[in-house]
Amino acid sequence: MAAIPPFAWPRGARVAVSLSFDDARPSQLDQGVPALARSGTRATFYVSPGRVEERLADWRQALAAGHEIGNHSLRHTCSGNFVWGVRNVLENGTVEQMEEELAEANRRLRELLEVTPVTFAYPCGQTFVGRGVNRRSYVPAVARLFLAGRGFREEFQNRPDFCDLAALGGTEMDGVPFERLVATIEQAAAHGLWVVFVGHDVSNLPRQCVTPETLERLCAWCQDPAHGVWIDTVAAVATHVAAARPG
Ligand SMILES: [Zn+2]
Repeated sequence: MAAIPPFAWPRGARVAVSLSFDDARPSQLDQGVPALARSGTRATFYVSPGRVEERLADWRQALAAGHEIGNHSLRHTCSGNFVWGVRNVLENGTVEQMEEELAEANRRLRELLEVTPVTFAYPCGQTFVGRGVNRRSYVPAVARLFLAGRGFREEFQNRPDFCDLAALGGTEMDGVPFERLVATIEQAAAHGLWVVFVGHDVSNLPRQCVTPETLERLCAWCQDPAHGVWIDTVAAVATHVAAARPG
């Protein structure tokens, strides 16, 4: 049996946690950023450039506050089975097209924010292009362009000594009560893993929402030194993971 190499999180932390939010939804600015600010927690926001243009000054301010702005593609390209995603669908695409789209999103985000995204979130967590015998993974394109790529609704937490940074597991936090989020972190802490949570709106809406109260409680819990959690952006944790690996 191969021995698991020792891996240490900064400052003796038991577990790493990243909070990420997708789609640049207005509630993230209106309720999410203020909720994060109360504990000084930094998060990652995965955006498309068109959404950033709508509230450019606010997104620039989020960046200045220490949050990470990551790439979420140009057109939220995902499966055509989602009835709202009919125009640019993964089933009709190629790896080359996706790579060009993601590079173009990076260029536009750099123009808007003067920072080039270093991590990516797969729209709808889908990592393929094409169909049938021509279906391919576009994870290699993400690996060429980014330090890390994050999925959605995976059933694993990330092993820092082993995980593929271009295919990180993302754990849904929409609608999940505080106690269950903490239980997920505690389970991961038993093995020294990295939990990357994924949320959408930050509000009290019935669907795809983290409530501001839950977010605030979660941040406060993670920031309490007694709990041994390192909470930081996907880019910050991925940078540590990449640097800590041999070779
Ligand atoms: Zn999305």
